[in-house]
Amino acid sequence: MATNFQGKAAFVTGGSRGIGAAIVQRLANDGAAVAFTYHGSKAAAETLVAGIQAAGGRAIALQADVADATALTRAVNEAARQLGKIDILVNNAGVFSMANIAELALEDFDSMLNINVRAVFVASQAALAHMGDGGRIINIGSCNAERIPFPNFATYAMSKSALVGLVKGMARDLGPRGITVNNVQPGPTDTDMNPGEGEFAAAMHEVMALKRHARPEEIAAMVAYVASEEAGFVTGASLTIDGGFNA
Ligand code: NDP
Repeated sequence: MATNFQGKAAFVTGGSRGIGAAIVQRLANDGAAVAFTYHGSKAAAETLVAGIQAAGGRAIALQADVADATALTRAVNEAARQLGKIDILVNNAGVFSMANIAELALEDFDSMLNINVRAVFVASQAALAHMGDGGRIINIGSCNAERIPFPNFATYAMSKSALVGLVKGMARDLGPRGITVNNVQPGPTDTDMNPGEGEFAAAMHEVMALKRHARPEEIAAMVAYVASEEAGFVTGASLTIDGGFNA
């Protein structure tokens, strides 16, 4: 599906690698000016910016740990200062660590919630100060919000389930402004977090209707749809794109 984001300004968290990088690239390809954050992957972020600029697009990379509310808010404000506004916010940055609930360290529990949930609230609140009517907030959730056929996923699954409730309430709060709020919930997607080859990948394919990982570009395509004008009636929804993982 063709989408057109000419004149739009987007902010994407965790845009340096994986799904986030594919989202940055897709939005930029379709005409958006895109600011994105990275944490550790400076070189990858700079390469992404250079590629977009070489193709005539506009991209800005900002270093920020999304677990640090002050740094994240500063990055959102800096993006809005440079781009003039934020029309589309994509809360993509996330972490995943596998641990049995009997052994998970409290620090790891807190870290996963800070990055996967608290940062969504922080970035959304900061972006809303720069977002006009008709804006878009899109979170990258996970099919694991609804189905966890393996052990050691409890906290990650909880963090993504939290977003299901969050978007419903935010959709109600922001409906009067015409701002839509949704989750895109990928299934296994071939990134550093979840490589498409290997023993665990094969175990995932066992429970899926399609026996493969998604390409990050496939997830970015659904994000582009939800971000588009055409998706103006989609809000409060958690849209799964998982190759039948949850089927
Ligand atoms: P990757 O591990 O490949 O990339 C993670 C991205 O998030 C990187 O750009 C990284 O930045 C950034 N990031 C991580 N921690 C922080 C932090 N504290 N502050 C700022 N940025 C941070 O992950 P994916 O692309 O696979 O995942 C992206 C999203 O998709 C996540 O929310 C994940 O939970 C979700 N998801 C992924 C699935 C999969 O199978 N891959 C399936 C379902 C959901 P940097 O490299 O600069 O540190």
